[in-house]
Amino acid sequence: VELSGMAGSSLAEKHFRFVVVGGGISGVTCAEQLAFQFPKEEVALLTAAPLVKTVTNLRQVSKTLEDFDVEEQPSSILEEKHPNLKVIHSAVRVLHAKQHVLQTEDGHNVHYEKLCVCTGARPKLVMEENPHVLGIRDTDSAQDFQKKLSKARRIIVIGNGGIALELVYEVEGCEVIWVIKDKAIGNTFFDAGAAQFLIPSLEVEKPEKSLPCKRARYTTDRAAKPKAGSADLGSALGPDWHQDISLRGAEAVSHNVHVEYECEIEAIHSQQDFMQSPLYTQKSDLGVWPVYAQLTNGKVYGCDFIVSATGVVPNSEPFLQGNSFELAEDRGLRVDEHMRTSEPDVYAAGDVCSAGWEPSPLWQQMRLWTQARQMGFYAARCIEAHVLEEAIELDFCFELFSHITKFFNYKVVLLGKFNAQGLGSDHELLVRCTKGLEYVKVVLSRGRMVGAVLIGDTDLEETFENLILNQMDLSSYGEELLNPDIDIEDYFD
Ligand code: FAD
Repeated sequence: VELSGMAGSSLAEKHFRFVVVGGGISGVTCAEQLAFQFPKEEVALLTAAPLVKTVTNLRQVSKTLEDFDVEEQPSSILEEKHPNLKVIHSAVRVLHAKQHVLQTEDGHNVHYEKLCVCTGARPKLVMEENPHVLGIRDTDSAQDFQKKLSKARRIIVIGNGGIALELVYEVEGCEVIWVIKDKAIGNTFFDAGAAQFLIPSLEVEKPEKSLPCKRARYTTDRAAKPKAGSADLGSALGPDWHQDISLRGAEAVSHNVHVEYECEIEAIHSQQDFMQSPLYTQKSDLGVWPVYAQLTNGKVYGCDFIVSATGVVPNSEPFLQGNSFELAEDRGLRVDEHMRTSEPDVYAAGDVCSAGWEPSPLWQQMRLWTQARQMGFYAARCIEAHVLEEAIELDFCFELFSHITKFFNYKVVLLGKFNAQGLGSDHELLVRCTKGLEYVKVVLSRGRMVGAVLIGDTDLEETFENLILNQMDLSSYGEELLNPDIDIEDYFD
């Protein structure tokens, strides 16, 4: 077998039965589960970043909703917990899938029998390698952002997903121009009605202290963080990533957010380019800024820097060359219902993979924390089943999409086809909204509940989850379903 870059015996050859790549939630969950399932076998976790993510205080909120804390910890913690788990700090450079061997950046060859790729995803930037365009992914990039923000008077945030939503709400003391290509804010997560409910939160002072809310908490053990590391390959931050970082700009204002709807970035100009362009003569009243963004609606804004929060790209590249992985449109490694990629003995989980199985009518993949954990866990179970030649069924967690989070200081629960995804006109919506308090939306299809958005402390999640899972015919209840005077929990008990 000829492996490029292998220069004889000086390179260390390592052999493990199971190898997992990636120290994020999916990789750590998968490696821990494998180590637990096969106590007599050696499991290796290869990761580029010096710290690994571990899940603690896992709480099952309801049948499918789960909540946990995430801690960034030194990898020795994993090795202490599982004597048969070895963490190797090195990025994978290339995979030779036929030969079942990985080559690391520092020249090791790691042989495996079964491999699970959990390398996550990175932010999609509107413009690569522009010093004025920033993506937020890990602790390092969040700290870089914070540093830049502390001197900033105005920033532009592009994107309409979860990260953008959190950013525009959390940033204080700096004007935010929020550029979204949709008609309403947050449309990855909810509809225009919910957006309408949330918008006023951007216009008022933020409450002094966050209200307590059930959701995962992200903590960083700063003392344990080595100074140098593979900064480019850190794992994704998760919920509450901004909890410990003050997101304060240079000005003495609280919220100052202006939304530019239905437009995108047309061009980004450096100060020098802008001053020399014909645009400058037309728009010379814009003031002097480090960078200028020209929008597709014709407007131009100067700002200190631009945050690109327009989604992520799976980190699949190091695995592709010379292999024949089937990729999804989003460049994720396509996996079947047993988390297998198209290369024998190579599995994938978390942000790097794209679910290629026929999904349950109530589930969709979203690159989220909980799904990373569920997929990592399930991939380990599948590997075990295949090794032992046992049958395994798709895990119950893939029956119903469920997500619990917090936006604009409100608890947010999303269930099933919460945005009527894929339903076309074959659905109806029931909405109940109390300004400043709660927003409840139910998606019904042929009389059955298929999705829900719950904003605020509605306490409806368990009942609605049951109604969605059991697909009871609710046609006879009509709008009564959301009548606040009826205790719906008792009703369906
Ligand atoms: P990651 O956590 O990205 O881990 C990937 C790992 O692979 C890292 O350890 C990395 O070092 C390693 N790696 C990469 N390339 C290589 C290589 N070549 N060789 C070796 N190792 C490599 N989700 C939520 O559910 N709720 C939220 O509120 C939320 N907020 C977020 C906020 C931010 C700012 C970001 C960026 C993401 C957020 N997410 C949130 C998404 C969530 O963080 C991800 O879905 C989740 O972390 C994915 O986990 P993962 O294990 O698949 O990948």
